[in-house]
Amino acid sequence: MHKVVIVGRPNVGKSSLFNRLLGKRSAVVADEPGVTRDLKEGVVETEQGRFLLVDTGGLWSGDRWEKKIQEKVDRALEEAELVLFAVDGRSDLTPADYEVAEYLRKKGKPVILVATKVDSPSHEAYLGPLYALGFGDPIPTSSEHKRGLEELLRAIWQRLPVKQMDAEPEVAGIRLAIVGRPNAGKSSLLNAILGEERVIVSEEPGTTRDTIDVEVYRNGNRFVLLDTAGIRKRPESIVEELAIRRSLRAIEEADVVLLVVDPFQVGDRELKLANHAMEKGKPVLLVITKWDLVKKEEAPRVRRELREKLAHLEHLPRVYTSAFTKQNLDRIFQEALRLYQLNHTRVPTAELNRWLGVWTAKVQLPNFKGKPLKILYATQPEVAPPTFVFFVNHPEFVTRAFENYLRNRVGEDLGLKEVPFRLVFRGRRE
Ligand code: GDP
Repeated sequence: MHKVVIVGRPNVGKSSLFNRLLGKRSAVVADEPGVTRDLKEGVVETEQGRFLLVDTGGLWSGDRWEKKIQEKVDRALEEAELVLFAVDGRSDLTPADYEVAEYLRKKGKPVILVATKVDSPSHEAYLGPLYALGFGDPIPTSSEHKRGLEELLRAIWQRLPVKQMDAEPEVAGIRLAIVGRPNAGKSSLLNAILGEERVIVSEEPGTTRDTIDVEVYRNGNRFVLLDTAGIRKRPESIVEELAIRRSLRAIEEADVVLLVVDPFQVGDRELKLANHAMEKGKPVLLVITKWDLVKKEEAPRVRRELREKLAHLEHLPRVYTSAFTKQNLDRIFQEALRLYQLNHTRVPTAELNRWLGVWTAKVQLPNFKGKPLKILYATQPEVAPPTFVFFVNHPEFVTRAFENYLRNRVGEDLGLKEVPFRLVFRGRRE
């Protein structure tokens, strides 16, 4: 579900805004231990769809923007797609407002500036100073007088990415292939995972294949680790070629591929495995392991070098972990679930064509001997990977450059750049 987070200094009216947007439905206050205890969450239902609204107001103590609060807001923002930056529309900006603005700028998430307590139109004349925050036009609202809430909801829907990400994992579980070069740390990682989990080994009796798939449960979701026997086999006990064949087979069967990367041994092999997986339509999560070997002060440099070596895989999500310290093991599963859902995104035809209409009106489409390419409409017939079919007047007018441009648009606008979506062009008479 889409996630929208309200951020702003104390007393600007965040929780009134939160309650107003939720309407009568009382806030479903999340009561998870730790992080979310101070966060109020609720589902806002509108005609356009639903989104999760989070109020970070409970994180503040006094009106100091302390590091402790920031860290918690960081976590609240992790999966957020949009921030509502609330400022008091009736009083002067304070240093805390500027600090929050600076923080949000660094975060780089889309922000809507919301002026609160603007009880009457005459108050709107005083909103000029809010432009100094650098987030453009404020949307004037009044929770008390129910003003501006429709406009705000409209703005929210305009800024949220066009996608539905609510695919429920199949009952059979999300199948994960663990692949990587020999000694990358695959079997250690597998052991670290299995060491922590209640494991159900499902060995089909009577089969000659010695593949063993293992089920694990994380956060209420079922995952299946494919061919754990193949991962455990020591390289010296198995010819490399066979090991490769096994990984390729696991990739074919997987929903998500975990590409295990040793931060000190990165190169062509990683690129090849990732490309192979993506050609097969499988999303790839880079699992950088052995992170315990990287000293804290070296981490930024190692990360940078890795990014350079894996430049072609820049768009892929990554988790830094270690089989020894077991840091971030849980994140692997969170990210795998997210990738699974993203790869099952279905963009409704109407929304897809609305999106298409908006940007095709703005750009120059390629020409061929003076005759322009026209995109008539688009559909998404398949998920996993999401496949978009564009019906055009002349498929042969689609240049490589234009296709790349379209790839970027789909990746950015539809929020799909982390998964291997496909584009297909079909001819259709006008
Ligand atoms: P595989 O061939 O990909 O299954 O790799 P292994 O799991 O057998 O690991 C290769 C080597 O890396 C072994 O010597 C492991 O002890 C070491 N190793 C694996 N994971 C880690 C880790 O997280 N931290 C450290 N320090 N060493 C690791």
